[in-house]
Amino acid sequence: MISIKSEREIELLEKAGHVVYLTHCYLKPYIKPGITTKELDKLAYDFIKSQGCTPSFLNYDGFPNSICTSINQEVVHGIPSNRKLKNGDIISIDIGACYKGYHGDSAWTYSVGKISSRNEYLMEHTRKSLFIGLEEVKPGNHIGDIGAAISEYALSHNLGVVKELVGHGVGQNVHEEPDVPNYGTRGSGPILKEGMVIAIEPMLTLGSPDICILDDDWTIETEDYSNSAHYEHTVVVTKDGYKILTGGENG
Ligand code: MG
Ligand code: MG
Repeated sequence: MISIKSEREIELLEKAGHVVYLTHCYLKPYIKPGITTKELDKLAYDFIKSQGCTPSFLNYDGFPNSICTSINQEVVHGIPSNRKLKNGDIISIDIGACYKGYHGDSAWTYSVGKISSRNEYLMEHTRKSLFIGLEEVKPGNHIGDIGAAISEYALSHNLGVVKELVGHGVGQNVHEEPDVPNYGTRGSGPILKEGMVIAIEPMLTLGSPDICILDDDWTIETEDYSNSAHYEHTVVVTKDGYKILTGGENG
């Protein structure tokens, strides 16, 4: 069952989403060569708590930290560690926050120092693919319209689309129905209705989209070691389109 959120629920989801956005803004200036991903995690934890929220991912299925930090060929679910960021890295940071029982979820890929033009290309077009997918969000459209738009855009830019990981509904659980794949057929899948809240999150790669999981049982990376980017917003379906709950002036 895909739930339709009440006005009050949407207010709470909006507050949670706004804290996720503010956490991204807060972390951004710290994302520099030399900082460890554990330090970023601690900054995020303290900030999320200071906003009256709890980190959605901490202890989620046993995940040990507050944010996911996935560097270069890592796609998602990277565990914060003592690894230091290096000039030229790209890092995807996935943040979830819970306010009075309701969640927000948003990922963004950041450059560390000066990055290659290939990495710039990957980041630019993965971010654009998210907004191409968002354009499909309106009552009456299908979930498959979103994925079709994202994958058409990605493939036309020679980027791989990770298929095993998908977007999702968001509410009192950070992952709810429906699945929101980054591929699909127009006119297929559940129909979007006003009041549904979903996270759309394309994960694109410079090479093959095939992935594998590391021995830590969390980190997912590309099999061919090509770099990957990840952009995600939580949005509510409105009367005539959508509203981003996890965005602001910086995206
Ligand atoms: Mg998500
Ligand atoms: Mg996320």
